[in-house]
Amino acid sequence: MSEMRLIVAGAGGRMGRALIRAITESSGAVIAGALESPNSPLLGEDSGVLAGLPANGVKLSSDLWELSAHADGILDFTVPAATIANVAIAAQRGIVHVIGTTGLSASDDAVIRSVTNQAVVVKSGNMSLGVNLLAAMVKRVAQALDDSFDIEIVEMHHKAKVDAPSGTALLLGEAAAAGRNIALSERSARGRDGVTGARRAGDIGFASLRGGTVTGDHTVIFAGPQERIELTHKAEDRMIFANGALKAALWARGRSPGLYSMADVLGLGD
Ligand code: NAP
Repeated sequence: MSEMRLIVAGAGGRMGRALIRAITESSGAVIAGALESPNSPLLGEDSGVLAGLPANGVKLSSDLWELSAHADGILDFTVPAATIANVAIAAQRGIVHVIGTTGLSASDDAVIRSVTNQAVVVKSGNMSLGVNLLAAMVKRVAQALDDSFDIEIVEMHHKAKVDAPSGTALLLGEAAAAGRNIALSERSARGRDGVTGARRAGDIGFASLRGGTVTGDHTVIFAGPQERIELTHKAEDRMIFANGALKAALWARGRSPGLYSMADVLGLGD
């Protein structure tokens, strides 16, 4: 099969630059476009140079409709409003949409789901192998322990991160909830402050720390009577997410329409 032509959305961002690097260093894919917001000062800059690589001739543009005329997929690590605008165009063009953007609302998720009867979308709050393996383990442990074990999820990220809890913390929360056969939306406890009252049995708690340059640390704690299990993942470099997203795009090419997860890509499903 020919090399997959990929657009990087948010090409001037932290993940965008990592994605440009991942595609450049890969075999099997080429950069077909670099998308940025219409008011970005980086429009017209060379995406290779921005990623710390030699110039590649692919300049940052804000016109996805034009870029997607000659592309097979889009890797999208941007902001929710941009991702939702990209969903419609990617579906109309019939290109694979890999969504790494976090902080999406329930209505954003509904928009994404609405196109997946005709489009191929891979979406995950974390594209790394390690976190997806961790999620599979969290589900197993949550299945094995009853709610005398309290589940708490602690995450830390760099100080520029704008949403909390992280998409990864929510992904891990969903895995724990699936293991317990409960709905996370009904059982999550977030942002405790002041006199909160005692912890409700069966809730899944979240705590978010922000500071420095931390790429992403997550710990899932199962706190039981007189003992505690802690499962931790520490991301050391954004390239683990970029390489995961690239793998997802290559895996998704030619699949039937649908909404897929990284667990599907990595073969970690039930
Ligand atoms: P970032 O450095 O702020 O990058 C976001 C980029 O998107 C910025 O360059 C921003 O440009 C650009 N953007 C905004 N509106 C746009 C539009 N309409 N069209 C195209 N580009 C647009 O953030 P980041 O650290 O790379 O993270 C990006 C997202 O990925 C976040 O939601 C983060 O949580 C998520 N993330 C996911 C994973 C995963 O594995 N799923 C891993 C890491 C990060 P301006 O600065 O000009 O607005």
